[in-house]
Amino acid sequence: MKNSRRDFLRNLAASGVLVPLAAQNLQAYPITTDRKLRIVLCGLGNYATNQLAPGLAQSKNCELVGIVTGSPEKAAKWKEKYNLADKNIYNYQNFDTIANNPDVDVVYVVLPNSMHAEYVMRTAKAGKHVITEKPMSMDAKQAREMIAYCKSQKVKLGVGYRLHYEPFTNEVMRLAKDKDFGKPKFIETKFAWRNRDLKAWRMNNKWSGGGALMDVGIYCINASRYATGEEPISVTAQAIKTEPEVYRDIEETILWQLKFPSGAIASGMSSYATNAHELSIHYEKGSLSMSPAYDYGPLKGTTSKGPMDFPIVHHQAYQMDGFADAILNNKPILTPGEEGLKDMIILDAIKKAANTGKEVKIVMS
Ligand code: NAD
Repeated sequence: MKNSRRDFLRNLAASGVLVPLAAQNLQAYPITTDRKLRIVLCGLGNYATNQLAPGLAQSKNCELVGIVTGSPEKAAKWKEKYNLADKNIYNYQNFDTIANNPDVDVVYVVLPNSMHAEYVMRTAKAGKHVITEKPMSMDAKQAREMIAYCKSQKVKLGVGYRLHYEPFTNEVMRLAKDKDFGKPKFIETKFAWRNRDLKAWRMNNKWSGGGALMDVGIYCINASRYATGEEPISVTAQAIKTEPEVYRDIEETILWQLKFPSGAIASGMSSYATNAHELSIHYEKGSLSMSPAYDYGPLKGTTSKGPMDFPIVHHQAYQMDGFADAILNNKPILTPGEEGLKDMIILDAIKKAANTGKEVKIVMS
């Protein structure tokens, strides 16, 4: 009975029908708050429109109260759809006046990668907590500056690593800790999508800071870290362009190999030339295989013990309730700027290894 209900909910999710959290009788964060966390979305592109805004609507403890947009047409549409007050609608020129708005707790930066640092700092300067999308910055140096500035302004800085808040990924993390199958020995991670949108900011190095590696390879790096529970010590990498006329300004396909202190090896691949969504972990005494491992869901996987049977949740709703718990109850954020910085350090090292053809040491400080 329990399983058939779960299968039914899974099928609904797979068919794109949104499953309200209440219907699943699930509560990721049994938190008590006096009020909801009041959020302003900054940048109303695909991710904000199709994932974050619906996620906020499904969350238990968050509320979309405002927007930042350069488009008066979008402002009018969002105002009507989400019943937003005029005083909570900003453009990129008057954004800094948000400092005088007592009805906003957090700004969520969902802009092209090159704009994350500027808007995180402007939000912090306004005295508001801030969440930024991944990758948090263009490089590790910028990530360190963002963390230091948010600290100096006494605001919390979070990164939108939605998978850290969902059950399949939590099980991968648990296996690293509890070692049901012994230590992880070899990890294989692949995340790729066929991106042919030549005009988009993702195709422009100045805006994206790279290519598929910054966009989706970052999930593989993060997965290698949570699959082992360790930080890597060195990397080798190879960059390949099979279609240089399409991917002129950015990387297309990158392969890399991370070494961990325990001896575990993680082999990764990211690309804009094909599609891939896999995570496999070979432990001393068993294995785990997930595909898809990084998409919005439903995620799927098996281990040596059989199919992974975990609740299918709305990633962004769970993530936002996690942020609400941390910010309203003044707890540490589960995915803080420091988590984003570790990935930026590794991304920098992978780029250097691919450019030089040499093994690059990784130091997490
Ligand atoms: P998008 O291109 O759909 O949206 C970007 C938005 O920024 C647009 O509304 C655009 O108008 C706005 N913008 C403002 N100033 C701009 C400028 N000068 N140039 C270009 N755009 C400008 O992109 P997206 O897919 O929504 O990605 C936004 C961010 O979210 C990226 O950092 C991306 O990595 C991240 N993202 C995260 C996930 C996830 O699962 N966590 C998924 C998708 C995207």
